[in-house]
Amino acid sequence: MNHPSWAERDRRVLWHPCTPTRDLDDLPPIPIRSARGVWLEAYDGRRYLDAISSWWVNLFGHAHPVINAAIRDQLERLEHVMLAGFTHEPVIRLSERLAALTSLGHCYYASDGSAAVEIALKMSFHYWRNRGEHRRTRYICLANSYHGETLGALSVSDVGLYRQVYEPLLLQPLVAPSPDAYVRADGESAADVARRQMSVLEHLLEQHAGEVCAVIVEPLVQCAGGMRMHDPLYLRLLRAACDRHRVHLIADEIAVGFGRTGTMFACEQAGIRPDLLLLGKGLTGGYLPLSVCLVSDEIYNAFDSEHGSPAAFLHSHSYTGNALACAAANATLDLFESGDVLARNRGLAAHLARATAPLADHAHVAEIRQTGMILAIEMARDGKTRTPYPAAERRGRRVYRYALEQGALLRPLGDVIYFMPPYVIEPDEIDQLARIAADGIAQATTD
Ligand SMILES: *Cc1c(COP(=O)(O)O)cnc(C)c1O
Repeated sequence: MNHPSWAERDRRVLWHPCTPTRDLDDLPPIPIRSARGVWLEAYDGRRYLDAISSWWVNLFGHAHPVINAAIRDQLERLEHVMLAGFTHEPVIRLSERLAALTSLGHCYYASDGSAAVEIALKMSFHYWRNRGEHRRTRYICLANSYHGETLGALSVSDVGLYRQVYEPLLLQPLVAPSPDAYVRADGESAADVARRQMSVLEHLLEQHAGEVCAVIVEPLVQCAGGMRMHDPLYLRLLRAACDRHRVHLIADEIAVGFGRTGTMFACEQAGIRPDLLLLGKGLTGGYLPLSVCLVSDEIYNAFDSEHGSPAAFLHSHSYTGNALACAAANATLDLFESGDVLARNRGLAAHLARATAPLADHAHVAEIRQTGMILAIEMARDGKTRTPYPAAERRGRRVYRYALEQGALLRPLGDVIYFMPPYVIEPDEIDQLARIAADGIAQATTD
């Protein structure tokens, strides 16, 4: 009933993320009144299946009774207290659990993923200074990487569209080629690509010996870069190279942590432990902003310092370790403990693969790829030769619009249509999504 007026009021006062203002003309934001499970409900009564977990944050659906209760319960006792000079039960319990899950000893909290990336970059640099290695001022990131949009995080990101304008303001990282298996040569396997690209990174490390603080990667899936996936072998080789050249390995699992790739953390599939691990997004089940930078004892111990010493890490954020957010995170971990989430996800992932398999033969589908609960369908002008559509044609946006009309939230990255659903999705809802995606792709690729 209020739909037009909400849209008008919104337009007057809001500035939406990742939305060119002209796009609002034909696709104004949809006012959502409530949400439950995988379903969003708009004021006009229309429902939308949240196939991308509201930008990859929601793990167990909207309005989950366990997480709701945990936040309510915490709210009655303590909503927040500053973490300098004070502490509280939810943040201690959460840190113990995260440390046990990751074998990294200390947790440094922030609110958004980008802030955790900033912390990791500063911490790594500062560690080397505390060790007397003042020449270490550079970072290595991968081509097509995305680590967020604050200036430091953007500096180590390589997604042109987000970066271009700000280039004069940014740090200059060394960019190593991505192990992205989509761009493999004829006859090459994903593992071959991993080996080939690692040799370039190894060369960079040799050329810049003693100058590099850390290598930062998104383990297994470069999500914002179009859900591009690589072989776990790359991470094993990277761990060994970082050890050989004495540089930190920063694993940014902000998007892929918490079961998304099939294991609790993506690094587990390579059997490696990073020096710094970044978590965010799903950490609170998609409820409240909370991120964390977990570090090894080796790094933590290098900051042993007294008052006035430049060795101390003085970084701070107002909401560090917010009690409500930590309560949501603890409830999220409870859900992992109370049921075999990863086993159920294996069944759902197999169902996703089956439901989308017929699309593999589509003339305008170049590849269907999957890592656990992420499945991506790459559209192309010529699927066989992988010739992309001109970006200006915005084919992916046509799928987005079609899906909304059909009651699904699918928000493609360029021409990559992907599913990254909450883990509580049902098989028949996956079938529904696959049908909508198939019809949407058929429409979007017919001129
Ligand atoms: C989303 C994302 C970030 C940034 O997190 P924000 O909470 O959006 O600041 C960083 N790294 C990766 C891999 C991400 O997907």
